[in-house]
Amino acid sequence: MTLLLRQGLVVGPTSTRVADVLVSEGRIVDVADTIDPPRGAREIDVRGCWVGPGFVDLHTHLREPGREAAETIESGARAGAVGGYCALVAMPNTEPALDNVALVSYVLDKGAQTPLDIAVAGAISQGREGRHLAPLAEMAALGVRLFTDDGTGVQDPSLMRRALEYARPLGVRLAQHCEDESLAAGGSMNEGVVSSRLGLVGRPALAEELMVLRDIELVRLTGGAVHFLHLSTARSIAMVAAARREGLDVTCEVAPHHLTLDETACAGFDAAFKVHPPLRTALDVAALRQALRDGLLDAVATDHAPHSPELKDRAFDEAPAGMLGLEHAAALTHEALRGDGADADPVRFFDVMSRGPARVAQLRARDARVRHSAHGGDVVAGEDANLTVFDPRERWSVSRDQMHSRARNTPYDGRSLVGRVTTTIAKGQLVVHEGKLV
Ligand SMILES: [Zn+2]
Repeated sequence: MTLLLRQGLVVGPTSTRVADVLVSEGRIVDVADTIDPPRGAREIDVRGCWVGPGFVDLHTHLREPGREAAETIESGARAGAVGGYCALVAMPNTEPALDNVALVSYVLDKGAQTPLDIAVAGAISQGREGRHLAPLAEMAALGVRLFTDDGTGVQDPSLMRRALEYARPLGVRLAQHCEDESLAAGGSMNEGVVSSRLGLVGRPALAEELMVLRDIELVRLTGGAVHFLHLSTARSIAMVAAARREGLDVTCEVAPHHLTLDETACAGFDAAFKVHPPLRTALDVAALRQALRDGLLDAVATDHAPHSPELKDRAFDEAPAGMLGLEHAAALTHEALRGDGADADPVRFFDVMSRGPARVAQLRARDARVRHSAHGGDVVAGEDANLTVFDPRERWSVSRDQMHSRARNTPYDGRSLVGRVTTTIAKGQLVVHEGKLV
């Protein structure tokens, strides 16, 4: 397949320029002011759009195996492609958990049948129970580069310490869902005046911040590496930024919902707004947006968490936590990047949607063992052709009935957004064109 993207704004790691991009046989073969179309090339007019490295999601719950009614690897990959993603990291809180070589291989094999690259995060502990370490070395030998018990955090500091010591020589990173269960237990939204008024039990910000603090100290002790998943409070971000200034190997992501919704959204008792960690205060949202604009975040990661309607339609305090993310993450990130009427910075946008997450997941280089291509690179000749085209002008409305995910649990139904993925080229193939699956 030969594709010629015409006159888009090509977004590099430091600057942008209007150019044509020629893709052939899985690679970018030329980037120039104007390129004569080779015979048989399909031309796509992308004037006014941003052209950058394909998005990488560090945090996708694909639900397979175990809860295929909510999502499968295949349906999740389709939703991801529509959202502009060329690579997804599948989280291990499936049923059973991805805590061994056989299950990791199963997901990798299924992922290889989709147009995207599906990487796997393995569990830190057996069964994600937080008691005994999972066989990290065996999974790392399969190409697993991130390990997490996400859904819950590793509660036992001595187990987390051992996991960090064990992971370090393997060159892999541990990713933490930061919530101290003894503080968060029973809570269904942020603890504060709003939860008191609604009569709901809260999950305090401190439940998250204590674990961030603990893990920063464990990184200092062990020389290990931690990625903080879906941080949601101003203090969490400040602690990570300070640790990084000290030279500790810590990275972090924020989810689109924590950048665009606050705790008051829970007032209607609609469980679509229930998520862990919970939606926080307006002050936290403002701090997260500022951190995004200041370049303090490695990634915006979706925490795409599909749930079947039978579960999610329950009462607020009984429904499972989590919301869809893949199909509107780019537009929400674009919204969060626009401060005070200013335009969003396209370089920062691709930093958090592609370059940063590819670096954290170690997807920058092609890896033959797990058959994935290279992600998060520059838009230059020779790179693997994983490209996303984003139109920052397009206005559209989210409709839960038009999602490609099997689930419908989006909190943004009916919300009007600005900016949309128009084209996704994954591994050299045109997967999404004019916003629709090819
Ligand atoms: Zn989580």
